[in-house]
Amino acid sequence: MSLVHLLLFFGLVIAASSSPGSRLILREIADQKDRAVELNTSNFDSVLKDTPAKYAVVEFFAHWCPACRNYKPHYEKVARLFNGPDAIHPGIVLMTRVDCALKTNTKLCDKFSVSHYPMLFWGPPTKFVSATWEPKKDKSEILVIDDGRTAERLLNWINKQIDSSYALDGQKFENEHALSNLTDYNQAVYDVEEATAEAFDIILVQKAIKSSETSASFIRFIQLLAAHHLSRRCRKGAAEILVNYDDLCPSGNCSYEKSGGKDTLGNFPICGKDVPRGYYMFCRGSKNDTRGFSCGLWVLMHSLSVRVEDGESHFAFTAICDFVNNFFMCDECRLHFNDMCLSVKTPFKKARDFVLWVWSTHNKVNERLMKDEASLGTGDPKFPKIIWPPKELCPLCYLSSNQKSIEWDHDHVYNFLKNYYGSKLVSLYKEKSVIGSKEETVPATEDLTVATSALVVPIGAALAIAIASCAFGALACYWRTQQKNRKPRRSWN
Ligand code: FAD
Repeated sequence: MSLVHLLLFFGLVIAASSSPGSRLILREIADQKDRAVELNTSNFDSVLKDTPAKYAVVEFFAHWCPACRNYKPHYEKVARLFNGPDAIHPGIVLMTRVDCALKTNTKLCDKFSVSHYPMLFWGPPTKFVSATWEPKKDKSEILVIDDGRTAERLLNWINKQIDSSYALDGQKFENEHALSNLTDYNQAVYDVEEATAEAFDIILVQKAIKSSETSASFIRFIQLLAAHHLSRRCRKGAAEILVNYDDLCPSGNCSYEKSGGKDTLGNFPICGKDVPRGYYMFCRGSKNDTRGFSCGLWVLMHSLSVRVEDGESHFAFTAICDFVNNFFMCDECRLHFNDMCLSVKTPFKKARDFVLWVWSTHNKVNERLMKDEASLGTGDPKFPKIIWPPKELCPLCYLSSNQKSIEWDHDHVYNFLKNYYGSKLVSLYKEKSVIGSKEETVPATEDLTVATSALVVPIGAALAIAIASCAFGALACYWRTQQKNRKPRRSWN
């Protein structure tokens, strides 16, 4: 397989790892005072290629230029709305700047025919990658921002482009809401990746694999992720943990350190090293302590449920129940959820039943929290709990409803969930990773071949646990040795 195909196949994973600094740079804006991301010749393409934002603004300036210095607070005021962990509208516009006074950036500034400072450009981030811009060149998707002299004017210009009503005081207006919901949903895959990485980190920090029972539960969940996580890089990371589990956790005694070049769980990041952290977008609350991880975990669970086959449904159910019970460090959540798991008396035979079970279980939690949050005032005022999906999202899901009860059309609910958490979610992700080139149109859903199909096949079988140790059986041992002997790249193409 050619390098181009490899790039195609790994999509974002390869993109990120071949440009090690790019995600880091996006993450680093969390720690710096300026919110606009400083770009230069070496990181320009990779950052703009990797950003999950839908649009980008690039400011070309010169550090010696007094007008640019005066303009900076205006530009930063707008950047603050869109960039960084405290952004009110994250994931929509990436605000960046390039210092043309630095010799290393001369060629980059020339490529965009920068004629004055500051000069601002607008466009989809990927359109800037390896791009040039010339005045009067028709049909370019890169536009010069011709009216951005103050923060207000710049924001007005942006609002006109994307038909939004963002305001500098951070208030959302009506017609913007629809757009932001849409954009936020686009980002849900990144949140699922982040929640997966966070769940794994919590296990490491808590050293939570303490017994043969927790070890088996961990393996089952990781196997479910390896086969059915919607993100390819998480499937890959999970499979690598499975294959190496014997060395990472000999006799169930795991080593958790994150460094030292040793074979430790900590050295096997479940979704790779470049997964965004601290950036929940679809799951971002309007307050610091709301939503985020637990929201991401629900989306992960729904997205897994719609991907399993009939024959795997009870395995998936057990894997999720045990995972929550053993590793979700919220006691109240764990206990309630466990009760709902225990109330299932007959094993699932149909994936449809399992999908609807996760959905209705989530709604039971929503129903309880609706009351609790109303009386305690602990909810997120911008995201009150609702019985889901609301009619606006799925009118056909409702047979009838009144204030006291809803009669669902379960066939429509099932179809809606399959689409919402299945193909639709990943196709949006695919679009996000399509970086303007044919190369990246490989569906993100495409199953990994060799290694993953080896994992998919036995998902409902005892092999899941057998993988944990060669002592469990010759077949498992043989399979595991085969996986370990594969060269890393070959096994994923
Ligand atoms: P969430 O409820 O987290 O939902 C995330 C997203 O999923 C929503 O934005 C919506 O788009 C979608 N969604 C909502 N309902 C459904 C549904 N029925 N089916 C499919 N998609 C849906 N908190 C407590 O205070 N007490 C508890 O006992 C508790 N138990 C929990 C058990 C589990 C297993 C988990 C993962 C979380 C639990 N939580 C509990 C946290 C709580 O459920 C919410 O995750 C948290 O309050 C954040 O809410 P949210 O507004 O982000 O929406």
